[in-house]
Amino acid sequence: MSKINVSPLYEGTFSVGVDHDFNRIGREDAPKKGALKLSINPFLIADGHRNILFDAGLGDLFGGDTSISTIQENLAEHSISDYEITDIFISHLHFDHIGGLANRENGYWELTFPDAKVWVSGNEWKKLHAEADKLEENHRDFFHFIDSKTDLEFLNDKHTPLPNVRVEKIGGHTEFHLALFYENGDHRYLMAGDVIGRRIAINQNFMAKYDFDPKQSMKARTELKSLAYEKGYTIMAYHETDYPLFKLKGDNGKKGFTIENIK
Ligand SMILES: [Zn+2]
Repeated sequence: MSKINVSPLYEGTFSVGVDHDFNRIGREDAPKKGALKLSINPFLIADGHRNILFDAGLGDLFGGDTSISTIQENLAEHSISDYEITDIFISHLHFDHIGGLANRENGYWELTFPDAKVWVSGNEWKKLHAEADKLEENHRDFFHFIDSKTDLEFLNDKHTPLPNVRVEKIGGHTEFHLALFYENGDHRYLMAGDVIGRRIAINQNFMAKYDFDPKQSMKARTELKSLAYEKGYTIMAYHETDYPLFKLKGDNGKKGFTIENIK
């Protein structure tokens, strides 16, 4: 078996306020008062057969200082070009997770990864499609472009689309939110989008008001943490700043889990 390379593709750290605007801050900086500190890390899984992304990054949908060159440069560090991405799995259809699928670098919309199949929840796509006219103009144009030009594949609530990838509907953050799993021998990874977006989700029980169904989010989070701990999955935390890959080691009861960073 060839070597499996699993890497976060860091796009930056942002202070995200109630207006949902993304304001870039430094890695060490605190967010503005009342705002969340969120980093963005799509994940690359290169296993010799396929070059897979779990979520697609910001693209250029988030204002002046975001552009598609971030993900392109990050991939270049792994000697992978945009044409070599074979599959992109999307945990949920929020724009900070799908923005990287298309870009306007040349002044008009183009696919960022022209040869990739893009796998999304069929139910969530249907829902977004029905609401697309209510989106602000940029997002609406983006969505219609993706809808007509991407090689889209729809995922069911429980689906094994590739030999080493399976998905499961967990809901919570969005109605049809998916957990994404990469399983290849001893290599086990799980990505739960915004249900486990940061490491703070591991040892703090909270109901997040930004969730579609906060209770379900909590339930799914608890189940995924047990699975990660018992079966040795590496958790991929899309919004974590410093070590977005980590494992759960000791179970300290009420105090939660010991977290081991994966470098
Ligand atoms: Zn998110």
